[in-house]
Formats: sequence, structure tokens, C-alpha cells
Amino acid sequence: MKIAVVGTGYVGLVTGTCLSETGNEVTCVDINKQKVQMMREGHLPIYEPGLESLFHRNIAEERLLFTTELAEAIEDAELIFLALPTPMGDDGSADLSYILSASADIAKLIKGYKVIITKSTVPVGTADKVTAIIKANTDVEFDVVSNPEFLREGVAVEDFMKPERIVVGTKSDRARALLTQLYSPYVRQGNPIIFMDERSSELTKYAANSFLATKISFMNEIANLCEKLGADVDMVRMGIGSDSRIGKRFLFPGIGYGGSCFPKDVSALAKSADESYYDFKILNAVMEVNKLQKVAFLEKVKDYFNYDFDGKKIAVWGLAFKPETDDIREAPAIYILKELLEYGATVAAYDPEAINNFDNYTNLKISYGDDSYEVLKDADALLILTEWAVFRNPEFSKMKDLMKQHVIFDGRNLFDIDTMLNQGFTYNSIGRTTLD
Ligand code: NAD
Repeated sequence: MKIAVVGTGYVGLVTGTCLSETGNEVTCVDINKQKVQMMREGHLPIYEPGLESLFHRNIAEERLLFTTELAEAIEDAELIFLALPTPMGDDGSADLSYILSASADIAKLIKGYKVIITKSTVPVGTADKVTAIIKANTDVEFDVVSNPEFLREGVAVEDFMKPERIVVGTKSDRARALLTQLYSPYVRQGNPIIFMDERSSELTKYAANSFLATKISFMNEIANLCEKLGADVDMVRMGIGSDSRIGKRFLFPGIGYGGSCFPKDVSALAKSADESYYDFKILNAVMEVNKLQKVAFLEKVKDYFNYDFDGKKIAVWGLAFKPETDDIREAPAIYILKELLEYGATVAAYDPEAINNFDNYTNLKISYGDDSYEVLKDADALLILTEWAVFRNPEFSKMKDLMKQHVIFDGRNLFDIDTMLNQGFTYNSIGRTTLD
């Protein structure tokens, strides 16, 4: 099939590459000229495990092309995917300007039947808005489909190639048949393609992300309570997670969710509810808890140093909002490092993939190390902010040799309490005993 993908970010590039992998001819279009040039020269603009080999193979086979020209991308394509940003607007709602202006541009260019498919996360009613805009600009036949993306950064290729489900919102039989044909290679194990109306499909994506964010905020509150009551959140987590109605996944407490999706999607759903005069109480609490979680973590650090960071060096492991990605959007590290600098600390940070993005985006006056140990030299404390696998089994004796004070604030509960006791660290984690 001939496909166009508009926007080559984390979603668009993975979508385009994975769709070309099953033999489709895909042209990806992006307004960022530098990015397109880079991809044309065979370089990936993002870090995503497993993407590189598929990217190179399909470029070599000439099934995966890149352009900055929308007209060129959509000319022969029957299916046009919109993988454009839908950032949080000033009032907390989703900013649809990218989607709506691209829809108008597409409408002016199409000459034959097209299916315009929204992969971006968009509020309920967007398919109607896109339909209206296209209709106002063309007489050509078309269908607009909602097809939210559920991939997770860090395992995006695996998620796209073997999705647990695909959700498609459309009332058109023609579009339904085309999408069934497109997606059948990805659901051969029997996972469902769930067809529904556009509004339900649009809401499904927000409901999924908001439910997951709720799970995180709930566990963070349980962890905070564990600290007050002298319970161990790891025990509680295992105790509840073995109940299949609850499940083992997504129960790890930490320093709050970040990333380019949860914060904006929870906010957008709360805003949609607001606009419908529905007071979605849980969502407001989820956002409040999340905001406070990183503040509470930093408060422990400030308390330890009596709010005096003069001459103190703080080492940081992890900048990305989660492991296996270079994405730092809404990462708790941004807030925490800014605050530390404001309080006068010197900060040295290491992240396996996210340093460039962090430095370009924040421009903070911190130093970066080439590995986890380099940043520990003469450090008064180590803060662990992302649970990269490489941090899980360090050489504790080497750490102690390098650090001035043997103090760790672990925002991701990477280490066993007993191990840290034996190693003799002052160890502060989330929802567990503090070792002084
Ligand atoms: P992104 O910011 O990484 O990428 C967006 C891309 O669109 C950028 O390369 C940008 O240059 C390009 N772009 C902007 N305007 C354009 C235009 N007019 N024409 C062509 N290209 C244009 O965004 P993302 O993380 O890939 O997210 C895209 C959408 O998918 C969002 O709605 C997001 O909520 C949703 N989503 C994201 C994820 C994720 O994990 N990142 C997962 C599921 C859904």
C-alpha cells in the first residue's frame, strides 16, 4: 500500500518505518529540514531501541522515503497518517493547531480518494473538526479515521510490530477494509483490531493514559504513606500486584510521571471534562499528587543539607523521563536540577542517551560525565532520577572511593535496603526505610 506519514517524531518515524517493514511504500514528511536531511543521509534523529536496523533496511529497499514537501508525500498515498504534536495549550487543553492546519493543507492538495488517519492523541470531536476542514476545501472523496497510537517510547518498535490491540475509530466500510488490510500483518498472533466510532476511539487513548497515570499517582501516595507508617512499599506492591485484578505492572513508586504524553493527556482530559461541565475529581488529584511527588523528593535532599548547598556537589544519574529513551520532555530531572542550582549546588549529571537533549533544552549550568562513575568524584550526594538498567548493579566500593559523602537519594528504588545497609551508605528511597 502507498502511505504518507506527516510528522517524523517518536510516533511518526516509528510508524513510517514499521509500516515499510511489511512491504508498504512509505513517504514521511516533516517541516524540520535539518531532521529530514539527517534521515535522508541515513541517520536517526531519535534514540529508540531496535529502530535503526529497520530504518536502514527499508531505506535501502527504497520503501522508506523522506521529504519536506507535503504535496510530494501525499500525491500517490491512499493512506495519510497524521503523527503531529498535540502539546498542552496555555489553558491545559490539547493544542490542535498542528492537526487542523495540516488537514487544511492536505485538503487543498488531494486529487483522489484518501483516508486521513489521526495517530496523534486528540480530544473527542477532532475527527469531526478535521472532516469539516477538509470538506470546506475540497470536493474529493475522503474518510477521516481515528487510530490512536499506544506505543511506549523505549519499546516502540516492539509495541508497533506486535501491538496488544489496535483501536480504529471509523464509520466508513471502505476505510475499515483498508485499515484491516494494512494492520493484519501486525496482529497475526490474534490480538484484536477493535473497531468503534471516532469519538470512542479518541476517548480510549485519553482513558488509557489517564488510568496509567492514576495508577502511578496512587502508588506514589501509598509509598508516601508507607514512609509515615513504617511499612515497605515494595512489600505492599508485591502483595497487591499478585492479585490479577490489579496486576504487577505499573505499580512502582517514584518521583512522578513525566514525558511527552501523561502530563499533557491527563490535563487535556480534565479540561475536556471541564468543558462538558463534568468535575473529573480523580484526574485533578492525579495531577496534584504528581506535581507534589518530585517536590517531596527534593525536600528530603534539602532537609538533609539543611537547605545549604554552598560548596556541595550533587551527582545525578538519569535525566530522561524514563529509561531507554533520549526524551526529556517533562522529565522530573528538569525541575529537580533547576532547584538544586537555585539553591547553590554544583551539579554533575550522567545519562546514557539524554544528555544532548537535556543540555540543548534546559541550557543549565551543570557538568556532564561520560559514565556513571565520572560524576561521582567528590560528590556530597548521588540522586538517582531514571532507572536505566546500567545503574542497577554498580560497583559500590568504587562509588565510595569516589564520593566525598556516601549519601544516595534514590528516586527509583533501584537498590535493596539490605545491600545498602551492608555497603554502609546513607540511603533514602521512596516508601521504604531510610538508612541514616
Ligand atoms: P514529536 O514532537 O516527537 O514529533 C512531531 C514531529 O512533527 C516533529 O518532527 C515536527 O517537526 C513535526 N511537525 C510539526 N509540524 C509539522 C507539519 N506541519 N508537517 C510535518 N511535520 C510537522 O511528537 P511525538 O512524540 O511523535 O507525538 C506525536 C503525537 O503522538 C502526539 O499527539 C502524542 O501525544 C502522540 N503519542 C505520542 C507517543 C510517544 O510516546 N511519544 C505515544 C503515543 C501517542
